[in-house]
Amino acid sequence: MNTQAIKNLRQIPLKGKRVFLRLDLNLPLHDDGSISDDTRLRAALPTLNYLSEQGATVAIASHLGRPKGRDPKQSLKPVATRLAEVIKRPVAFVDDCVGDAVTRKVAALGQGEFVVLENTRFHPQEEKNDPAFSAKLAAGYDVYINDAFGTLHRAHASTAGMAAHFSSRGMGLLVEQELKALSPLLQQPKTPFVMILGGAKVSDKLGIVRNLLPRVQRLLIGGGMAFTFLKANGIEIGASLCDDSKLGTVREVIAEAARLKVQLVLPVDFRIPTADGKAKVVETLKPGDKGLDIGPRSAKLFCEALQGAATLFWNGPLGLFEQEPFMAGTLEVARAVADCKGHTVIGGGDTLAAFTQLGLADRLTHASTGGGATLELLEGRDLPGLAALL
Ligand code: AMP
Repeated sequence: MNTQAIKNLRQIPLKGKRVFLRLDLNLPLHDDGSISDDTRLRAALPTLNYLSEQGATVAIASHLGRPKGRDPKQSLKPVATRLAEVIKRPVAFVDDCVGDAVTRKVAALGQGEFVVLENTRFHPQEEKNDPAFSAKLAAGYDVYINDAFGTLHRAHASTAGMAAHFSSRGMGLLVEQELKALSPLLQQPKTPFVMILGGAKVSDKLGIVRNLLPRVQRLLIGGGMAFTFLKANGIEIGASLCDDSKLGTVREVIAEAARLKVQLVLPVDFRIPTADGKAKVVETLKPGDKGLDIGPRSAKLFCEALQGAATLFWNGPLGLFEQEPFMAGTLEVARAVADCKGHTVIGGGDTLAAFTQLGLADRLTHASTGGGATLELLEGRDLPGLAALL
């Protein structure tokens, strides 16, 4: 997909225009409904400020959670309140995303003002990408802007279907920044290109491995997904995580890596839990042993293998990072990545959490805000939210 052909904000007349802005304001909530993390809202601020400075009138739309119909617990109203606090200006709210009340509210806004619309998923037609619903969403606006990077892989009415109703449409600053940081991984990445993958689910990451294998020089695999690779190599993995249904595919990947002369680095030691709730390091796993982190020798191997990387991508923690005894491997490798001088990009909330914990997030070239969207983009797939903007 030629994402270069997608218009950015600077290429679209905005003054006095009524803009429908799709953001990813699917913020994590506490059990009592209060917001636990507003990172996604803050990631949208550059676009919001730009639109306001340019004198646009902005209706902000997003989904939140997975409601079945209208559910007050998944309303965007608290998000509108938080936005007003963050930007220190009033932000209007309207309790639907389509209909006369919305049209009236948008018409009443002054230049540079915002209204937050209610959760798009309160309408089941949203996720069905229903054409009639797309037409209703689009009614009354001059411009459509999608800056919801985290939902670009969804073909929903507000992320894809409605774009066709606008001749004036484009991406926001967050999407532009993400594409700028991620494109060099797909198009002629500087070498050596090192990819580090971890996390629990090997199935989620095989697409990206297949697409990037011809471009990387070194592939480092840790976390729960490493055990499917180790088992495929005939190594005893005890009771560690393993996706037996993927053993065949993983064997193909290992053979392909060898054919392409990609250096495949797998863990050589492990941290396993002890009876008193701590961890001990073992070189070999016995039946019943559960590898919950890479051991120190593996961490050293990983750190050595990423030295001198000109391009580096990392997704997924190298151990059960949420638990103190099993965070060491991820943290040690994160320190080495932070020292790396190349184009360093990470994806996924867990990986970012490791850098944030160490206070090293600003030493990366880019921390991607998208989980599934980032992986699908790097798998080489066309994202419906981007295709709709072309
Ligand atoms: P994913 O969503 O596939 O990226 O998986 C992330 C999760 O994988 C995190 O919650 C980690 O705690 C978990 N994880 C990483 N390594 C292991 C491991 N060796 N065993 C079990 N879970 C792991």
